[in-house]
Amino acid sequence: MTEWFNETLYKDIAQRFTVSRVIFRERTEHQDLVIFENPVMGRVLALDGVIQTAEGDEFIYHEMLTHVPILAHGSAKRVLIIGGGDGGMAREALKHAAIERVTMVEIDRGVVDLCATHIPSIGAEAFKNPRLDLVIADGAAFVKSCADRFDVIIIDSTDPQGPGAVLFTRAFYADCKRCLRPGGILVTQNGVPFLQPDELKNTAERLKSLFADTAFYVAAVPTYYGGFMAFGWGSDSAAARRVAADEIARRCAAARIETRYYTPELHVGCFALPRFMRDLMGA
Ligand code: SAM
Repeated sequence: MTEWFNETLYKDIAQRFTVSRVIFRERTEHQDLVIFENPVMGRVLALDGVIQTAEGDEFIYHEMLTHVPILAHGSAKRVLIIGGGDGGMAREALKHAAIERVTMVEIDRGVVDLCATHIPSIGAEAFKNPRLDLVIADGAAFVKSCADRFDVIIIDSTDPQGPGAVLFTRAFYADCKRCLRPGGILVTQNGVPFLQPDELKNTAERLKSLFADTAFYVAAVPTYYGGFMAFGWGSDSAAARRVAADEIARRCAAARIETRYYTPELHVGCFALPRFMRDLMGA
């Protein structure tokens, strides 16, 4: 009898994965966590019934939410990750030797410990890296009182429900903006616009009210099904977003990072958006 994991993110449409083996399942302090194995995607993490990350395609999401802002910035030394409990975002950010510190603020210790134990391929190495500062706290509370300043802030959150809801508010984005150094860049996990149009519309409105330069870029991540996944972008100038492809290629070569999805050409091309997304953004 085949067992299925049925994702519960949407009311009228759903994806499902066969479950070869349940590796771990428990209610952590904040959310229901399950780690299971699937023949196509490998080990998969789901929180509150929503797929968070899978061994099979996590590289796409983690590469695009780190290398695009870090290489666009060009001289990032301090990176802040909000969420990111599986460790994949920290892994990719730490590939940049020029980055001195990565601070990762994850609300749920259980996600960090269980992913390091049961899906070590994604982030276990990152958690051992001396340049990583792991803080177990609510990301919104952290940026509200944080005295540190960062060159890149990455919001690697769950969807805007449960503990992740606060990470999509204008107040949170305003606190993130205050924690950016001049020329700093904020990027956000911003859902799949074809199925979550309000997430794009709302973030666009909120970021536009705070940042001189607001944009979105995209990547196709199979486990975040429904078409392109959108990433929000806020900065105090468009300069970083408009760095020419040959300069991005030079920076990428100098950083000597190994990638499986990100390329300098894709870095420039991923900001070209479908008309329906531009309409949702009011662009
Ligand atoms: N790639 C996934 C996606 O796009 O949906 C996100 C993966 S990561 C596992 C999401 C993390 O955000 C989880 O570990 C969750 O515990 C964390 N999180 C949710 N709300 C948070 C908050 N308010 N502060 C810090 N971390 C939070």
